[in-house]
Amino acid sequence: MPKEPIIGIDLGTTNSCAAIVEGDNAGVPIVKLIPYKGGEYTVPSIFAIDDKGHELIGYEAKRQWQLNPKNTVYGAKRLMGRSFRSDIVETMQRVVAYSVRPGQKNDVVIDVANKEFSMPEISARILNKIRDVASNYLRVPVRRAVVTVPAYFNDRQRQAVKDAGKSIDLEVLRIINEPTAAALAYGVGKKLNETVVIFDLGGGTFDVSIIEIRDRVFEVKATGGDIFLGGIDFDNAMIHHILKDFTAKTGIDLASDPVAMQRIKDLAERTKCDLSAREEVPFNIPFITMTAQGQPLNIELKFTRKLLEQLTSGLVDRTLQMVARVLVDSGLSTKDIDEVMLVGGQTRMPVVQERLTKFFGKPPSKGVHPDEAVAIGAALYAHSLQDDTNLRLQLLDVIPMAIGLEKAGGAFHVVFPRNAPIPNAKQVTATTSFDQQTELMMRIFQGDNDQVIRNELLGEFTFSGIRADKAGKAQVEITFDVNIEGILTMHARDPSSGREMKTTVRVTQS
Ligand code: AMP
Repeated sequence: MPKEPIIGIDLGTTNSCAAIVEGDNAGVPIVKLIPYKGGEYTVPSIFAIDDKGHELIGYEAKRQWQLNPKNTVYGAKRLMGRSFRSDIVETMQRVVAYSVRPGQKNDVVIDVANKEFSMPEISARILNKIRDVASNYLRVPVRRAVVTVPAYFNDRQRQAVKDAGKSIDLEVLRIINEPTAAALAYGVGKKLNETVVIFDLGGGTFDVSIIEIRDRVFEVKATGGDIFLGGIDFDNAMIHHILKDFTAKTGIDLASDPVAMQRIKDLAERTKCDLSAREEVPFNIPFITMTAQGQPLNIELKFTRKLLEQLTSGLVDRTLQMVARVLVDSGLSTKDIDEVMLVGGQTRMPVVQERLTKFFGKPPSKGVHPDEAVAIGAALYAHSLQDDTNLRLQLLDVIPMAIGLEKAGGAFHVVFPRNAPIPNAKQVTATTSFDQQTELMMRIFQGDNDQVIRNELLGEFTFSGIRADKAGKAQVEITFDVNIEGILTMHARDPSSGREMKTTVRVTQS
């Protein structure tokens, strides 16, 4: 074991997991998932504070969730790096029992037991737990990691993960995309020459990537996804049905009862998973509430796989539409695809596999373990960064959504189109619009809409020290630099003197 090991971390929406390379077998690295207490390999991505004020993370937090739903935070990754005004935050507010409100930078903060937490603070606690488990297992302090994020994470979300690491003295050496990590788990050491589709439907996010593997070179051809599509949405579709049915039978709306909601949520998820293996599953919760006269009421339902498929058909349709779009973006057709790889727990739903089989004309491969592939890939990449490594990997990735700037009237001027390869740099020349103007402000967005208001604001950049001159005379040459992790930096210079200008960034509301 190296003195300074680098671990791979899959920081998942529902569960997180870590892995490390321990030795090799005839040149092929052997990856070990880091076990947690009781032999589990995953840690629930849940954070809570109990009534005594103790912070709980992972299983400890999950165990008390039903009794303490208001102070138990789950699915927080979906809120990471989001501005409070985004549609996503609004949707989240409707489905979670904890309180979500705007922070000072128009980010999202959560109140847990009357204490305020930012999203990076919550992620930092989960990362810290994983690091502690890894340090105990490896018997050396772990200070460096490769962390995976959904390919569809924007610049701000990637930055938030780096910040979370920094706050607990865990250096996030590299952020890599989850589907790319899954492709590494599949392809490293096999001397492949294949084009694969990684279809990753996890607890909270959906990603699809088309990746060309040429031995140790992993080149992403196109990527797409939906940060708000995952297992939780399948659960919510069931919950919605259960609540409607209960109201129709009793006239009582359970939505405002957090403890009842938590019990329904738990059983809905379990029932959903059982329906992947069985055609019919009972859904019974005794004493869910009482009538005004104090009579106990139960939920007694029967769920069939068919009903679940009907309730969630719109969600499955959306995944297939995205697959079709990504295929078009890659310039390939279904016959160019050698393997379709499933990642993420929600891909165990039979209808997801059936639809993919129909679409590609062949069944998805079982080449990777859907829950472990991402952590394994992260560990392989981590190993390739270790000083004494003999594993050389080349990742050629793309940006998931266009990056550009706001033009007059709120139109979006694209600087990097979606699926532009990274690292990448582009220059834009701007001119002053009034006499003696010495400062220029530019708002940068990421997204696929032609109006900036529908995209995510990455930052407000101010370039100062422009040569005072008549309107339209002074120029600023602005360089947009997207690094290998998909993180943007900007700098500007005066093209007439070559002098660098001062750049300040502010992330505010759009
Ligand atoms: P992940 O983020 O990859 O851990 O995926 C977790 C999601 O997969 C959760 O929404 C689970 O409810 C869902 N899931 C896990 N097992 C199954 C299963 N057998 N059938 C359907 N969904 C599942």
